Amino acid sequence: MEAITTAVKPRKVKGKVEIEIQRCKGCELCTVECKENALSLSDSINIKGYRYAVANNDLCTGCINCALVCPDAVITVYRTNVKKQKVDVTPTDIRDQLKENIAGSL
Ligand code: SF4
Ligand code: SF4
Repeated sequence: MEAITTAVKPRKVKGKVEIEIQRCKGCELCTVECKENALSLSDSINIKGYRYAVANNDLCTGCINCALVCPDAVITVYRTNVKKQKVDVTPTDIRDQLKENIAGSL
């Protein structure tokens, strides 16, 4: 059987999360809520003695779910639009045929 390959679409929007780690109480509501698995608890503890949430921003989509569930509102989410680049995907021979058809119809 042939392997099915699917192209992964590049993300148009990327997210970035900032966490006030000294105010985090390590309740893990945000880590459970993040469907991208971008959040986890730290190995070290903060000033309150809690392991705190840390983000892998490479995985973040900026959905803001984590910020909405955080009971202490210590998460801020930013979104950035990846710069759009125009890519011409029209095959050259098709383009030439289209030009000829258009010229012929004028
Ligand atoms: S904004 Fe969404 S994707 Fe990013 S860390 Fe929070 S829950 Fe996860
Ligand atoms: S929901 Fe808020 S308080 Fe709880 S672990 Fe996440 S950042 Fe910390």
